[in-house]
Amino acid sequence: MNNVLGLRCIHCGKELEAAPGLYTCPMCGTRDGILDVMYDYLNIKKNTPRRQVVHSQDYSIFRYLPFLPVEPSTPRPHLRVGWTPLYRPPALTRNLGMPHLYIKDDGQNPTASLKDRASVIAVIKAVEENMTTIACSSTGNAASSLAGNAAAMGLRTFIFVPGRAPQGKVAQLLIFGANVISVQGSYNDAFRLSAEAIERWGWYNRNAAINPYLVEGKKTVALEIAEQMDWEVPDWVVVSVGDGCTIAGVWKGFQDLYQVGWIDKLPKLLGVQSSGCSPLVDAFLENRAWRPAEENTIADSIAVGVPRNPEKALRAVRDSGGTMVAVSDADILDAMRLLGRTSGIFGEPAGVAGLAGLKYMVGNGVIRADEKVVVIVTGNGLKDVQNAIAAAGEPIKVEPSLDNLIEELKRRGLA
Ligand SMILES: *Cc1c(COP(=O)(O)O)cnc(C)c1O
Ligand SMILES: [Zn+2]
Repeated sequence: MNNVLGLRCIHCGKELEAAPGLYTCPMCGTRDGILDVMYDYLNIKKNTPRRQVVHSQDYSIFRYLPFLPVEPSTPRPHLRVGWTPLYRPPALTRNLGMPHLYIKDDGQNPTASLKDRASVIAVIKAVEENMTTIACSSTGNAASSLAGNAAAMGLRTFIFVPGRAPQGKVAQLLIFGANVISVQGSYNDAFRLSAEAIERWGWYNRNAAINPYLVEGKKTVALEIAEQMDWEVPDWVVVSVGDGCTIAGVWKGFQDLYQVGWIDKLPKLLGVQSSGCSPLVDAFLENRAWRPAEENTIADSIAVGVPRNPEKALRAVRDSGGTMVAVSDADILDAMRLLGRTSGIFGEPAGVAGLAGLKYMVGNGVIRADEKVVVIVTGNGLKDVQNAIAAAGEPIKVEPSLDNLIEELKRRGLA
């Protein structure tokens, strides 16, 4: 038995019994009626001492099984999802003058992004509901993670991506054997078409903010951060924001731990978008309802003009006492270089947007340099080589002769 009590609509508060095929609140509809999974915290408290988790030999998100909405007996993919490293890179902390800065490198998941945490839950739920085909639309990483986890689980996938998705992510989809539908339009167009197709063919739905279980996977990044910091919660957790599910998941994870008494404070959240597509940052800073925005940024994973989970994301940031900020694409490329050169960690543009946002907020004094901060790097840079080269420049071209090499290195002052 799992510890799920039921589902609660975040819009109207109605409580529903978890059931196959139930995704969103029937009263509020698919746009607003996002459901939150409720747990029996008393039962977790009674039956799962914290030390049991600390001593677990399961170095994946499933070390937190009592906090997950899956049956312990359901088969799981063999891929290792989660338990990604939390680093304190010395050269980066020196460069920024932030001695208590940590990087959670979620690019080290099986398909190289944080989305694996959600997709692994999706394929398990699909099997629990006896489904054999699973579908989603995605800016890229939800797609490649679903394709990889479904391949590991033996499920068929239909994946809808916008035409602009970077080649590395599309290559992943094809290698994992997904049926890839490249929609010549925006992410919103891809989302709409996938919803119609899912309805038409009755596939299992892994769409963000529709399927209530995905965020339960994403929250494990917060559970890991807490455990890896020996349950000393940081002052801030920084994460980039597209649909808003990731930041909502981070908040849910810390809430869970607080509810069972494993931590005694909650972090503030800093949500970061690109100024080329910042509907949620604008809504937050102007304290108004969000409005659709253009998708005009190199950070393709957070180029979400019509976010699917705005209410939950904005509420998470507000409830945490945190804030939001938009950074330029130039700042994002700077952050990519900075992270690479000072830490050996290679993030994709959306993966390093959080670091760019943090730098800005320390610069303007909202976050103090001596605070304890965790930045989540949400995706690996090899997924999008084109932007990396734009950030880092070209190699030194030489003829195959030592003389030419000496000349070129001299010219650059390197030897
Ligand atoms: C999906 C994604 C995000 C943002 O997550 P949302 O749930 O869409 O807010 C950030 N970074 C990367 C690399 C992603 O793939
Ligand atoms: Zn409702």
